[in-house]
Amino acid sequence: MKALINIDYTVDFVADTGSLTCGAPGQAIHDALLALTKSFVEAGDFVVFAIDRHAQDDPYHPETALFPPHNIEGTEGRALYGELAAYHASVKHAPNVHTMDKSRYSAFHGTDLEIKLRERGITEVHLVGVCTDICVLHTAVDAYNRGFKIVVHQNAVASFDAAGHAWALGHFQNVLGAQVV
Ligand code: ZN
Repeated sequence: MKALINIDYTVDFVADTGSLTCGAPGQAIHDALLALTKSFVEAGDFVVFAIDRHAQDDPYHPETALFPPHNIEGTEGRALYGELAAYHASVKHAPNVHTMDKSRYSAFHGTDLEIKLRERGITEVHLVGVCTDICVLHTAVDAYNRGFKIVVHQNAVASFDAAGHAWALGHFQNVLGAQVV
């Protein structure tokens, strides 16, 4: 069984006005990411929307010192970007669609994602979203350590850092044994 994990494709990470945006590379994957998401949902596969959530000026969160405020709870920045927003709204109550908050780079860290995957018998996770070399990477590392097969869709991941994006694609394949398709 396989699942799609759709990571952080939000206004703050993708829109020109986003506070921590990937910009053009993030916007360029919109159509491919949306099409892949639709195909997994329609096939009845488990689809997870894993979305960063932060509190404003959280003094205890390590990202506060590293990045501008982003994906603050209750703000438009946390909304899904582009047509993914309306599509998500139309399918979010489907039994095979799960939307979850995450507070660290990895969608596994401090969440019940692993339980959700195990109870459905899922052994293979497909990753799309942003940023390739941050949240997608850390989610892939945690999936690897938990023994999941990993597939990364290179036309549906992006980063603001072109060198980091290219490095991460190699790391997925060469170090995490992922299929990069
Ligand atoms: Zn964050």
